[in-house]
Amino acid sequence: MAKLSITVNKVRCIGSGDCVETAPAVFQLDAESKSEVVNAAGATDSVIVAAARSCPVKAITVVDEAGVQLFPPPKK
Ligand code: SF4
Repeated sequence: MAKLSITVNKVRCIGSGDCVETAPAVFQLDAESKSEVVNAAGATDSVIVAAARSCPVKAITVVDEAGVQLFPPPKK
């Protein structure tokens, strides 16, 4: 499995916990209830993209090894 590059925009994150619920091995809430990536290889690519999609404020960006942005969909 290719390793994804996952970033959380902590300014945007509202700590809803949806990403943690979807992929608990990948995302955890920090001391300020902001999501952070603890293991980018902690779930399958599709689960990680689903976690990013579940974020109500679109704070999570997922880019694959080739640099292709998987979520949010790149603007055309
Ligand atoms: S789903 Fe989005 S808003 Fe909720 S904890 Fe994760 S990154 Fe933050």
